[in-house]
Amino acid sequence: MPELPETETIKRELQNTVVGLKITGVETPVPVVLRVPLDEFKHKVVGTVITGADRRAKNIILHLSSGEALLFHLMMSGTFLYLPKDAPKREKAQVIFELDNGYELRYRDPRLFGYIKLLKEGDITKAPELSHLGPEPLSGDFTLEKFKEMLGRRPRARIKALLLDQSFIAGIGNIYADEILFYARVLPTRPSGSLTDEEVKRMYEGMRNILAKAIEERGTSIISYVDLFGKKGNYTNFLKVHAQAGKPCPNGCTGTVVKTEVAGRGTYYCPECQK
Ligand SMILES: [Zn+2]
Repeated sequence: MPELPETETIKRELQNTVVGLKITGVETPVPVVLRVPLDEFKHKVVGTVITGADRRAKNIILHLSSGEALLFHLMMSGTFLYLPKDAPKREKAQVIFELDNGYELRYRDPRLFGYIKLLKEGDITKAPELSHLGPEPLSGDFTLEKFKEMLGRRPRARIKALLLDQSFIAGIGNIYADEILFYARVLPTRPSGSLTDEEVKRMYEGMRNILAKAIEERGTSIISYVDLFGKKGNYTNFLKVHAQAGKPCPNGCTGTVVKTEVAGRGTYYCPECQK
């Protein structure tokens, strides 16, 4: 599933490709992903210019010259592709934005969990998807002190469940939660209140380092994630424990990476060096 690094990659690619372009038409072969009436959607979107692209948690926002914005969530398996109009439609997109440079933005989610909303600029932060989010882990004001204080408010929660909780911290999903906990050498089931200062510091460092490196490598492709140009992310080559069950621990200890379930999600860790 696209997490922070994958969504950030798509956002940056959108900034470099579609900002400044006019939407000349929309096709909606499967409009069920639209959370706005079809007629209203077409009427309000066609003819506008894309003026900016942003990301918040795992959401992508395209700002329009009309003073409204499109909010996209890719959920588990959604993709966004930027292709020339005449590129073969190999897979059925649900919504296609035709652009005035001869290209299209094709939004597709085979499982139909993703969605597109249209919001007034002033209402973006009030949208239910965005109003209850925790801080962005790579933002300047997310400091070690702040992280400590946040953990202090949820001492009984399991640390992996907290990392996955978007209202606690935004953008981290199952892949990077496993990688961050391995980096910090912390068991996913530990109550957050049991973490030592040293462990909290390693968690914080792991979060910043791993997410930044994963953005640099354009994300992780395990199942279906591809970027705006249909390319897979390179961070798959850097995964230490996630989806690595049965492999020797990359720390060089005597352990083997195992898979279990924590917070309802398949969880990978090394039972030897994560305590
Ligand atoms: Zn180990």
